[in-house]
Amino acid sequence: MENKKIIHKFTNNNSNYYTSHKNSTNKEHSYILTFEGRFFTDNNSLKLLYFSWQQLNKQLKKEAKIFLGENDEKLFFIYDIKSKEHLPAESGGTFSDLRFMAANLTIDEAHMTAKAAALINWHKINNFCIKCGSETRQNNDGNIRQCNNKICSYQIFPRLDPAIIVLVTFQDKCLLGRQKKWPDNQFSTIAGFVEPAESLENAVAREVFEETNIMISKIKYHSSQPWPFPSSLMLGFNATATTKEIKLNDNELEQAAWFSKEDLLSGVCKLPPPLSISRALINDWINKAK
Ligand SMILES: [Zn+2]
Repeated sequence: MENKKIIHKFTNNNSNYYTSHKNSTNKEHSYILTFEGRFFTDNNSLKLLYFSWQQLNKQLKKEAKIFLGENDEKLFFIYDIKSKEHLPAESGGTFSDLRFMAANLTIDEAHMTAKAAALINWHKINNFCIKCGSETRQNNDGNIRQCNNKICSYQIFPRLDPAIIVLVTFQDKCLLGRQKKWPDNQFSTIAGFVEPAESLENAVAREVFEETNIMISKIKYHSSQPWPFPSSLMLGFNATATTKEIKLNDNELEQAAWFSKEDLLSGVCKLPPPLSISRALINDWINKAK
């Protein structure tokens, strides 16, 4: 399944590994670029563009690079440029939103860009120490921030916000909902953040009840997907409904409804993008129900 491949295939060594091996490795260093949350891509294909350090603008400081991982030939870094003037000379290209590039990325690139997006956002909101309020600096190739106050020296590590996403079924139908801000007629599986002191199963049952008034049982883990908008890990589940009457209890959804496999195959509503975990949950259910 696509989502599982994203997690396991790319060799995502942490920066300690890189730091201890960087003097012994002869692997080429390859950089991708971001600016204001968008990735630098080819104009037409929206494929990622890669650069060596020598090709990058001379004004960039090497200590601001962030290590992402490696494959058999290269070490990969992201550099978040602060001005378009810092682009490599005559590089062409355009800046693209990760959500629209997803279909043009390899599985390794999907993993790498998700990590890049999450880390860049994490750096932006952790400029000050959460213990003493002093300024922090990037450390360990961008995988740690450290407090500049020598007495404190607190290290901040990237955090994740766990979120659940669930496909609820009742006999031959599945439960989908839509938020008001989404494109017309776009529906998706039920999702929400895990709250403090809550198990994943509790979060699944609570979110489904709050959003649709449906009670569920047989909650079963399916798969997970990084969702760096800004820092979530989506944990996907299947569940079976024990009630059928929908009521939008917390008004987070504008609409929720039961859909049959035939409804979804006939295009009665727009479904989530192909690489999303919600689409994987829906597709697996359709294929299993055949
Ligand atoms: Zn501090």
